[in-house]
Amino acid sequence: MLQIGCHLSSSKGYEAMGKAALSIDANTFQFFTRNPRGGKVKDIQPKDVEKYHNLAKEKGISRLLAHAPYTLNAAAKDPSLREFAKNTMADDLKRMEFTPGSCYNFHPGSHVGQGAETGIALISDMLNEILTPDQSTTVLLETMAGKGSEVGRTFEELREIIDRVTLNDKLGVCLDTCHVWDGGYDIAAKLDEVITEFDRIIGLSRLKAIHLNDSMNPLGAHKDRHAKIGEGEIGLEALVRVINHPALCKLPFYLETPNELDGYAREIQILRENYRS
Ligand code: FE
Ligand code: FE
Ligand code: ZN
Repeated sequence: MLQIGCHLSSSKGYEAMGKAALSIDANTFQFFTRNPRGGKVKDIQPKDVEKYHNLAKEKGISRLLAHAPYTLNAAAKDPSLREFAKNTMADDLKRMEFTPGSCYNFHPGSHVGQGAETGIALISDMLNEILTPDQSTTVLLETMAGKGSEVGRTFEELREIIDRVTLNDKLGVCLDTCHVWDGGYDIAAKLDEVITEFDRIIGLSRLKAIHLNDSMNPLGAHKDRHAKIGEGEIGLEALVRVINHPALCKLPFYLETPNELDGYAREIQILRENYRS
């Protein structure tokens, strides 16, 4: 069965997210661990998490994907911004243990003119400080579009980060279809080649999740503007090939398309109808 869900608001807690997911025929979902702009966070309510676990077990919701605030920058020039990113992510990882065995996705960072090598070093330094041997969470580096000075546009950069992290058995990758497309990987015309390249450089065993988005912009645009499924430059046919590809079809897919719940429900329905695996 296709593992698919979308990004949901976490403001009403875990049980509410589980119910929202089920209402749109999703069997997994993604959520922000806190306000996407970072900062203060409500305490997790153990009762709420317990209700969520019961619901998930009963209805078959599979492991979750949490997303770090996208404003965190582990590669910032200002040490206090790096410190903030580190402390926030370390706190998130503690909170993730309420839902053991989940994945936690983050944007590697922007080197803001310091150069990719410095960015890669700063990001791996942070990971080396926050990862712990006993955490049950897998931390995912998201493939980026290469907007501005984003680190992680190429598979090589992600591989370099992974190589520098001691506890890298805790690391994986989340491939965002809009981002790799905007980054210059032609998943519409050359999906097999892109996957082979991913496998050669990073290794497919690291690939833990897919952000399934269409893109408003052409291949290699470095823009990062998500489009609804089938309404962008990647197109429905190519995205259907993504969910059915033998190397990807068992992974969980997360929609981050510009939609409300009803729009997500339609996209999930279309993708389920086109899933053959
Ligand atoms: Fe993201
Ligand atoms: Fe994404
Ligand atoms: Zn994006």
